[in-house]
Amino acid sequence: MLDLPMDYESLTSAGAIMGSGGLIVIDCGNCIVDIARFFTSFTMAESCGKCIPCRVGSKILYDTLTRIIEGEGSENNLEILEEVGMFMKNASLCALGQTAPNPIPSTLKYFRNEV
Ligand code: SF4
Repeated sequence: MLDLPMDYESLTSAGAIMGSGGLIVIDCGNCIVDIARFFTSFTMAESCGKCIPCRVGSKILYDTLTRIIEGEGSENNLEILEEVGMFMKNASLCALGQTAPNPIPSTLKYFRNEV
């Protein structure tokens, strides 16, 4: 997707968002699961804790990614990531919790074998 134009319509149609214009570039030497955990740790820290889907869901995502990074993951961890992420997206009260799991589906879509 290196040739993807960086305009609103192109990014939206690819299922991505640019937010405030930040762009993070990583090379293939980075662990993609670690990158997903980095983003999850940010939203977990930013969660105000008012609603359970965001408060507990982000912790479950973080812990599951940590298990995988530490070599203790199993096949059903992929289902946990998908189901908890979908639950957070549908049931969280505000945009933070609704978008917090966003890195998970794209990580599983493009790097499932690595996960
Ligand atoms: S989704 Fe919003 S309201 Fe709910 S815990 Fe997260 S930050 Fe708070």
